[in-house]
Amino acid sequence: MNIFLIGIQGCGKGTLVEGLKQHFDFNLISVGQLLREEVATGSDLGKKIDKLISAGNLVDIDTVMKTMSKKLKSLKHDITIFDGFPRNSEQAKEIDKILNVDMVFHLVLSKDRAIERLLNRLTCEKCGHITKKQLVDSDVCPVCGGKLITRTDDTIESIEKRFKIYEKETYPLLERYSSRVVEINADAEPDEVLAKAVRIIHDYN
Ligand SMILES: [Zn+2]
Repeated sequence: MNIFLIGIQGCGKGTLVEGLKQHFDFNLISVGQLLREEVATGSDLGKKIDKLISAGNLVDIDTVMKTMSKKLKSLKHDITIFDGFPRNSEQAKEIDKILNVDMVFHLVLSKDRAIERLLNRLTCEKCGHITKKQLVDSDVCPVCGGKLITRTDDTIESIEKRFKIYEKETYPLLERYSSRVVEINADAEPDEVLAKAVRIIHDYN
């Protein structure tokens, strides 16, 4: 079963994926990680990717798809979750050629709530733990003791910019996959969001 996760920045995709790991075994496909893994294998494809990234270039769609096709041949589990992919119509066209998506989870969150969350977010620079300003009274990470910081790309200007791109490029995918879209209210507590997603996956079939 193939599941795409779609939602604006701040909607809690990462938290949901972490939670799902407690309930199912699944293959997680995230493009950034996929490319890093290929580089680490030292293959010709990996060397090409490494060159592009080191030069500060975006990895072109052909290279991304080649890497993904390779990965899709060696999956261990029945469920595959695509985190943040496809991101636009170009990517959707390509992925539709090589697999059939069964469900598209749309984590629905208003732009205002997403902004509120992102501006409230603290990230540990050491272990990556994410928390909210109102939950901690110092800048010390409760998990590892590292320093909690506001990510530099979590400014109102950069958030607005990312939203514009999302609305223009990613939103049309909900139309493309309309018959397979499952809407999940991402403004609920993380536990509720997780419980709903678990139920939907269980009930599928
Ligand atoms: Zn930490």
